[in-house]
Amino acid sequence: MNGSYLIKPVLDADYPVISHGKGVFLFDKEGRDYLDASSGAVTANLGHGVQEIITAMAEQASKVSFVYRSQFTSEAAEKLAEKIAEMTKGRLEYSFFVNSGSEATETAMKIAIQHWQEKGRPTKHRIISRWMSYHGITIGALSMSGHVARRARFTPLLEDYPAIDAPYCYRCPFNSTYPSCGLACATQLETAIKRIGSEQIAAFIAEPVIGAAGAAIAPPEGYFEKIKAICDENDILFIADEVMTGFGRTGKILACDHYRAEPDIIAFGKGMSGGYTPIAAAVVSEKVIEPILNGSKSIMSGHTFSANPQSCAVSLAVLNYVDENRIAEKAEETGRYLSSLIKRLLTGFRFIGDFRGKGLLLGIEFVRRQDTKEHFPAAAGITSLIIETAAKNGLLLYPSAAGKEGIGGDAVIIAPPLTITKRECEELVRRLRKTLEEAETIIR
Ligand code: PLP
Repeated sequence: MNGSYLIKPVLDADYPVISHGKGVFLFDKEGRDYLDASSGAVTANLGHGVQEIITAMAEQASKVSFVYRSQFTSEAAEKLAEKIAEMTKGRLEYSFFVNSGSEATETAMKIAIQHWQEKGRPTKHRIISRWMSYHGITIGALSMSGHVARRARFTPLLEDYPAIDAPYCYRCPFNSTYPSCGLACATQLETAIKRIGSEQIAAFIAEPVIGAAGAAIAPPEGYFEKIKAICDENDILFIADEVMTGFGRTGKILACDHYRAEPDIIAFGKGMSGGYTPIAAAVVSEKVIEPILNGSKSIMSGHTFSANPQSCAVSLAVLNYVDENRIAEKAEETGRYLSSLIKRLLTGFRFIGDFRGKGLLLGIEFVRRQDTKEHFPAAAGITSLIIETAAKNGLLLYPSAAGKEGIGGDAVIIAPPLTITKRECEELVRRLRKTLEEAETIIR
C-alpha cells in the first residue's frame, strides 16, 4: 500500500506528509503550504503552534502522565470541569470526560437512559434524532445519526431509533416556506412522540447547527424553542450535540446560545482541545444527575483514558485561551467578514445552490441547476472534485452531504481556525475562487 503500513481512510491513497503547522497553515514535507479552511475536521479551532497550550502540555507531562479515573481525580480534571461549568454559565455543571465526540454523544445517550431508570421509568430508553445529522461513528452514536452513507454498511447492527426531518429550509421536507410553514419540522417531533409513546423515549438529540450531514444548516427562528417545549411537555431530555459547534465556532461559546432552548445534556469534542489532544465530554445539568446521585451514585460508562490529566490540562489551556482572547466574539466578527467575501464570490458561479452558516461554520451547497435545485448525479463526484481541486490550490475544505434525509447532494464546509485574520480570509477566498473556476471548466 504505497510503501506504508498505516491503514488510511483510502487504503492506497498517497496522502501528503505534514511536517508542521503554524497558525492557519499546514506545511508538507515537500514544502507546500495548505490554508486550512476546514480546521482539519472542524477541530483545530485555534490553529497550530499556540504557545500557551504547548506550555501547559509540557508542564502537565512533567507532573504526571496518567491517573486512572476509578482510583484518583487530578487537579487538571477538576479545574477543567470547573471551567466548563463557568463557560456554560453554571447551567450545565457536571462533566464526564471521554476521548472522542462519538463517545461523548453515546455517553450522553447512556446518561439520559440511566436518568429515567433511576427515576423508576426504565421503559424510557429510545432516542429520537433527525435525518441529516451526524453524532458519531460508534454503534450507539451511529444509531442516532442520519448520515446514510456512514450507516449503510452497519444497518443490521444499528438500534432502530426514530428520526424526524431536519429544519432544512433550502429544501424544505414539507415543500413549504418559513414562517408560513408553522415550523412543521419541529411539530413533527410531537407527532413522532405520540406515535411511539413518550414512555418509550429518553431523549431527543440534535446538532444546533448541522455539520457533516448538511453543511452548516442553522434552523429558522423559533425552531429549538418549539423543540424544547415539546421535550419538556413529554418528559424527554434534550441533548445538544455541540461536538462541532462548541466553544466559539458559531460566534457564541455555545451554539445553543443563539436560541432560547436550554439543553439538559451537551456533548462536546473537537474544539474542546482544538485538536491538541483527544478529549471530549458529556456535560449534564443538576436535574439530570440528581436521580443518579440519589440512586446508584455511579454512571455506568467510562474509558481507560477518561479524564486523562494530560488531555484535561491541554483542554483547560484551550478553554482559557478561548475565554481570555474573546475567541467566540472574534469568530462572529470574522465570520461576518468572510461570509460577505464568499457571498460576493459565489454570485459568479452557476453551480452554487445555497450558501449558509453561522459564525465560522459555513457551508456551500452545489447544484446542477439553480432554478430547480437539481442535484448532480452521485457518480459525478462533485464534492470530491471540489475538495481535490482545492487541495491542489493549497486550500483545505471539509466534505459534506446535502440531500434530504441525509441522502446524496454535494456540499462543502468552510470552517477555518477561529483565529484567522482578515488578510488570511482574503487569501482563503482567492484560493477558493481559483478552485471554483477550475472546477467549473470540468463541470461544464
Ligand atoms: N457529533 C458531531 C456533531 C460531529 O460533527 C462529530 C464528528 O464529526 C461527532 C459527533 C463524532 O466525533 P468524533 O469523530 O470525535 O468521534
